[in-house]
Amino acid sequence: MRHFAVVGSGPAGFYTAEALAKAYEGSAGNGARIDILDRYPVPYGLIRFGVAPDHQSLKAVSKRYDKVADSPGVDFIGNVTVGTDLSVAELLEFYDAVILATGAPHDRRLGIPGEDLPGVVGSAAFVGWYNGHPEFADLDPLLDGTHAAVIGNGNVALDCARILSKTRSEFHGSDIVGHALDALDRSAIRTVTILGRRGPHQIAMTPKELGELGHLDAALPVVDLKDFPPVEADDALEPGQRKSITILREFNDIRANKAKTMIFDFFAKPVRIEGAGRAERIVVERTELDDQGAARGTGETYEVPASLIVTSIGYSTPPLAGVPYDERGGKFRNETGKIADQLYCVGWARRGPSGTIGTNRPDGYEVAGLIAAAMPPGGSGERKGAAGLKALLEERGVMATDYDDWRRIEESEAANARPGSPREKFVRVDHWLGALDR
Ligand code: NAP
Repeated sequence: MRHFAVVGSGPAGFYTAEALAKAYEGSAGNGARIDILDRYPVPYGLIRFGVAPDHQSLKAVSKRYDKVADSPGVDFIGNVTVGTDLSVAELLEFYDAVILATGAPHDRRLGIPGEDLPGVVGSAAFVGWYNGHPEFADLDPLLDGTHAAVIGNGNVALDCARILSKTRSEFHGSDIVGHALDALDRSAIRTVTILGRRGPHQIAMTPKELGELGHLDAALPVVDLKDFPPVEADDALEPGQRKSITILREFNDIRANKAKTMIFDFFAKPVRIEGAGRAERIVVERTELDDQGAARGTGETYEVPASLIVTSIGYSTPPLAGVPYDERGGKFRNETGKIADQLYCVGWARRGPSGTIGTNRPDGYEVAGLIAAAMPPGGSGERKGAAGLKALLEERGVMATDYDDWRRIEESEAANARPGSPREKFVRVDHWLGALDR
């Protein structure tokens, strides 16, 4: 019997557990036991805390993860923080291999003056706030001004801009947490400027996500066609990107009077954030593309008013003691997922924060394949697995939870839901544990 620990129960963790279960299925000696650990008693990581609450169809992939959790040999051990409750080195004593699937939950910093002023928040924090992440439940973003800015031209920037622009009724059917829904309902924001340091051809926004902006009840997307290259230049783009640019261009044809606007401001590089005690404006420098397609400042600067500024420029994986780390890439140092003997990483902790949820599947399967090659099914290790881990956690007073506990929390969250919503999430660890009544 082999024992594997997957640290993190987001998409990368679940796909890896699924792949490992398949690789060792039916092998002599009963194959493998796979424990999926999470620092919270609730699973799904990015699906619960990252994917937008008004994108329920994307969140539905969690049903597949439930099947993995229910499959023989796979267990969920929640409420355990690797790096705090126990070290990676300690975990390695109990398991034949440890796979880090810890995602990339930290905001990258812009590195410009004024970034720490009240009113400036990273997208991980802002998304965490409306998605009920316990670390950000108290974020209380400043929504009292009329102007906001979102920095970045990726899909997360789109999520943030859309959430800031929707009406209360447009959240019907979503699982946005109540505190965020109420605060957004009271929000004074009428203009959201989406700042891209490069041009329309360089956006990292996908067609479906971009297209949604053209159909919002109260908000109108605004582009300036002067920012675009001649339409013939779109032919050189790959089909997905061409579709996105076409959608962007078509925003210019929408004729409607709406209360809110979402302004795409391209070739605009943030230089500094200013304000008396809180963010009031962002100073940007006009850019142009250099020969390599990078943004080059032209020296011309101007101000964009914004009392809420969401930076959405990418994420990093938090380092873990004893695990080699790639500072530049903001991820664990690894060779196709292998960090060291017995130690692997998958998903954003391996590749950095890019790709869709589905990208994590081949990624997890590839790393599971490496592990199965290094420890062929049918062989037997001498590790204690969950028995050893749980004894240590008990000794340290850590209350580990399992998937049945999660089901109980899930039931309570569903029972508390607003009409039309699948759940009202608990946003505090003690509320999750309270729902378990033990
Ligand atoms: P992303 O796609 O990498 O976009 C990051 C954006 O930030 C880019 O436009 C980048 O511009 C800009 N940026 C980086 N550093 C900057 C700086 N110093 N100043 C100004 N702008 C800067 O990252 P993301 O939006 O966080 O998304 C992460 C991944 O999740 C992506 O693969 C995304 O597609 C995926 N995602 C998918 C969905 C969905 O399918 N519904 C939703 C959310 C996220 P440059 O190009 O100039 O570097």
